[in-house]
Amino acid sequence: MTEPASEILAVLIVGAGFSGLAMAIRCRQAGIGPLQVIEKADGIGGTWHDNTYPGAACDIPSHLYSLSFAPKADWSRMYAPQPEILAYLRETAERNGLMPLIRLGTTFRGATWDETRGLWQVETDRGPILTRAIVSGMGGLHHPAYPDIPGRDAFAGAAFHTAAWDHSVDLTGKRVGVIGTGASAIQVVPELAKVAAQLTLFQRTPPWIMPKHDHAIPEGAKARYRRLPLARRLERARLFWLHEVRAFLGFTKVSKLTGQAEALARRHLAKAVTDKDLRAKLTPDYRLGCKRVLISDDYYPTLQRPNVTLETDGIARITETGLTTEAGRSHDLDVIVYATGFDVTATFARMHLVGRDGLRLTQAWSNGMGAYQGITVAGFPNYFMLLGPNSGLGHNSVVSMIEIQVQHVLDCLQTLRTGNRAIEVRPEAQARFLDRIRSRMADSIWQAGGCRSWYLDASGRNTTLWPDSVMAYRRSARRARLSDYRLG
Ligand code: NAP
Repeated sequence: MTEPASEILAVLIVGAGFSGLAMAIRCRQAGIGPLQVIEKADGIGGTWHDNTYPGAACDIPSHLYSLSFAPKADWSRMYAPQPEILAYLRETAERNGLMPLIRLGTTFRGATWDETRGLWQVETDRGPILTRAIVSGMGGLHHPAYPDIPGRDAFAGAAFHTAAWDHSVDLTGKRVGVIGTGASAIQVVPELAKVAAQLTLFQRTPPWIMPKHDHAIPEGAKARYRRLPLARRLERARLFWLHEVRAFLGFTKVSKLTGQAEALARRHLAKAVTDKDLRAKLTPDYRLGCKRVLISDDYYPTLQRPNVTLETDGIARITETGLTTEAGRSHDLDVIVYATGFDVTATFARMHLVGRDGLRLTQAWSNGMGAYQGITVAGFPNYFMLLGPNSGLGHNSVVSMIEIQVQHVLDCLQTLRTGNRAIEVRPEAQARFLDRIRSRMADSIWQAGGCRSWYLDASGRNTTLWPDSVMAYRRSARRARLSDYRLG
């Protein structure tokens, strides 16, 4: 196959969520092209396009959960609701001239490295693409996970996942069952309880919950941020450091302060829930930070509404009319909402990538996922991941991680403009980095905190989160150390 040179891209970005859009903006600013972004959904926004459940919002403050190089002065609330974040991403893409570069409804199926030509041959459901480099902005949280409960197909009513909300179903006056008590559940439950006749929440593990203190941002502050960019930047810095210290407050490893953070969360629970039995059911039996620490002011009050029941008995099966628990209790339901999270490992395992010498990514990761700085993998030249393995966060804004990674990838892409055909991480540099991660993980809160979460893979290793502060990651990854790479 010989394509005209004009059809060979300099960079193909996969995914038009926060990561992909950030990468595309910075590539354009750096004059890197031709460039294309493919996106499987029918709109841009990634997570914020998919997750439209009632109450969807971000639990990181808006002024921090946004791109530093695409600021927005007039965020409506401390914690922006999903429609506002989605609108922000759309406006940002438009303002930066990205829309003509984005091909919606185009699914990345896989890619094969062509050593002779120094190119990736990409397969999509809309045909092949040739590109010198690929940047994956696919993230890990987009394949809904459904629980393996017997009888799931037997249910006669409507059933859907929080990340694939069926807006055609009116929940007013319905008997609704929600399975799961993670970050999505605690946002959706208060909204559903307002309209449902009866809401039954099926909890397997209670989360640690801190106060949220959400509020509308006063008009005066918005005007100030508009007038004085420095004031907005200071607010962002304040929020960054407020979250950054959480890395040392037990959010990454058990510290002297973990007990104090737990006491604060227990006080939040005690203040909100007076019933002793309910409080006991809502008290976690593992260390704070082991699972994502949640923030909410309306979740606990909602659980005390007369139309809400918290069921802590395990689910035995799903029937035509509802759910039966292990103790034999039956719950008749009209609708089941799965707030059961995402299949992270499957997302990465489904990447059909064939690198140098026919090496498949699934082979390279047969003992678990891992990438140098969470970005590059030996054997896969000119392939870069944003929010890849071990670059998620529990304590601060992932947008900060994305920006660090985008800079690293830009450094690498620049080397391809100066006569190099390929840039590939050296296996020894990758091994050194992964050793560092493993040794830091050994006493991390996720390993030692007495719980199981989606952060851990089947063998119990945390291959999803960065085990340190954002500043530590910045020092480690912001500039690509070219001695760790092989250029050719
Ligand atoms: P999640 O944290 O993985 O929670 C899934 C919930 O489903 C857990 O409570 C889990 O219980 C429960 N579950 C799974 N299988 C079950 C079964 N067979 N029976 C009973 N319960 C079952 O998923 P998520 O709430 O969608 O959040 C995923 C991630 O998305 C978060 O960690 C966060 O990174 C991101 N997120 C962020 C925001 C935000 O505001 N920034 C909002 C939503 C989501 P166990 O705990 O016992 O496993």
